[in-house]
Amino acid sequence: MPKQAVIIGAGPAGLTAALEFLRRSEIQPIVLEASQEIGGISRTVRYKGNRMDIGGHRFFSKSDRVMQWWMDLMPPESLGDTIAYQGKQRTIAIPSRLPEEPPLRGMGPLTTAGESGEHLPVETLIAATAPQNSDLVMLIRPRKSRIYYLRRFFDYPITLTADTLRNLGVTRIARVGASYLYSRVHQIKPELSLEDFLINRFGRELYLTFFKSYTEKVWGTPCDRISAEWGAQRIKGLSLSTAIKHFVRNRFKHKSNVAQNDLSQKQTDTSLIERFLYPKFGPGQLWEHVAELVQQKGGEIHMNSPVTTIYANAQRVTAVETVSPAGERTRVEGAVFLSTMPMKDLVRALEAGGAEIPANVREVSEGLEYRDFITVGLLVDRLSVHEPDGGLLKDTWIYIQEPDVLLGRLQIFNNWSPHLVEDKTKVWIGLEYFCYDTDPLWKMPDDELKKFAIAEVAKINILRAEDVHDAHVVRVPKTYPAYFGTYARFDELRAWIDSFDNLYLVGRNGMHKYNNQDHSMLTAMSVVDGLIAGHVDKAAIWGINTEQEYHEEKK
Ligand SMILES: Cc1cc2nc3c(=O)[nH]c(=O)nc-3n(C[C@H](O)[C@H](O)[C@H](O)COP(=O)(O)OP(=O)(O)OC[C@H]3O[C@@H](n4cnc5c(N)ncnc54)[C@H](O)[C@@H]3O)c2cc1C
Repeated sequence: MPKQAVIIGAGPAGLTAALEFLRRSEIQPIVLEASQEIGGISRTVRYKGNRMDIGGHRFFSKSDRVMQWWMDLMPPESLGDTIAYQGKQRTIAIPSRLPEEPPLRGMGPLTTAGESGEHLPVETLIAATAPQNSDLVMLIRPRKSRIYYLRRFFDYPITLTADTLRNLGVTRIARVGASYLYSRVHQIKPELSLEDFLINRFGRELYLTFFKSYTEKVWGTPCDRISAEWGAQRIKGLSLSTAIKHFVRNRFKHKSNVAQNDLSQKQTDTSLIERFLYPKFGPGQLWEHVAELVQQKGGEIHMNSPVTTIYANAQRVTAVETVSPAGERTRVEGAVFLSTMPMKDLVRALEAGGAEIPANVREVSEGLEYRDFITVGLLVDRLSVHEPDGGLLKDTWIYIQEPDVLLGRLQIFNNWSPHLVEDKTKVWIGLEYFCYDTDPLWKMPDDELKKFAIAEVAKINILRAEDVHDAHVVRVPKTYPAYFGTYARFDELRAWIDSFDNLYLVGRNGMHKYNNQDHSMLTAMSVVDGLIAGHVDKAAIWGINTEQEYHEEKK
């Protein structure tokens, strides 16, 4: 068994690997973290007593192993509650059947399975102990997220309901119907772009209403330049006719259920309320706790230590080099190396260490693209939109599909955890922008960006600018590894890196894969399992998230 594991990055994947090594083996982990913060994208940003979550991290997993891991570290605040999450029987948490961060967010299925009244399977029981420390706990939060469009709220995922029809209005519905019928007769052939794909299934009007603006905000690429194949992978089986069938069936069922006072339907409805775990003080709290445990157990974590050079000899990595903010270089040797750093940077670091990079590999690696992310936290007295009783909106987050603003999503941090907000009389929200680090928005000075963001939410009637007390800007590079650029040739890059036999790629950017925390953790756990067992099956690690999505789509 190797003696020393060098782990690049103190995000969920790196820290999971470190703790697993310490709990289950003699292998000593040395974690090298570029920044001065623990938790990677899953960190919690602190600002004047308030806390911001980058993106809003729901804690749930289809993997009981991950759920148990979290529960062991931070038990739920109260025991005996049901958590609806993506269990092995994935019909449990119906809305979350969508991939967590679907590339086409905001455009989930028009209907959700389970609405038609079928019984949902019973959940697996996860054991948890009573909390010892009232702060080190997971809250169980109800999920509510809607779409804001036409200055109105729509269900997310969009469902064909009476409310939806009312919000859209007669004229728009007529246009939707006409353009859908037109598209049935005049299918775009060949179907090359995502735009073609969506128009062929939904008609131009519905595509323009619910798909185009948000997709382009998220990906910064016009839908006519995203491949149709991508749509086919993500939203296959979905069309307006399926949605209409569901609508009619649901309405019919609803009536008959009311007539029969059908108890099972009620039970189904209750179980459809998705609830997820959430650390009392945000996701970073869990990862900071893990980091403490790693250090208590003798593992090392070096902050401000970006890995810039990786040395290899005959397809084995021998050492890495970090550079401190003062420019001091440190060489760290190890027997095995786990990387969560972006693959593009990894290849550059190998090159800096003298590795010969094949031309095709460099081409693919340099062509990988990432979407970057800005969150502007706003502390406000009140929102101008509210629940019917005048209270704070219950949404955890809201998709902003209004095409006249760049704003993509809005988080209401109070609803994730009231403990994220210092002054409980205030509303603490996060305005999220998807962008490239080359965009003017990314480069805008903070003060200008704050004014810009406030003007946007005021423009769409979410709040009044004069109700804003304070603002804070956070820029997060490389939040979304993109499946365009040279991604179609990704296998060439993967094969070359996999040929270094003691180098293991784990996590999200580490594998250039749309991994959530649980997938990131599972990749790390699998490497540790393999090293302990004496053989790591790299192909199986690449299969982790793919497999699950495959099963999901099959369902
Ligand atoms: C908007 C958004 C919403 C999300 N919502 C959810 C959710 O609801 N639920 C969920 O489970 N997941 C969610 N995720 C995904 C989750 O954030 C990631 O899966 C997770 O943080 C990935 O962990 P990681 O360790 O692989 O990478 P990261 O979190 O990216 O951590 C990598 C670490 O490596 C460090 N690093 C990079 N380069 C170097 C280098 N050269 N040397 C040393 N260190 C380096 C970085 O500084 C960072 O700390 C969301 C992500 C986003 C962007």
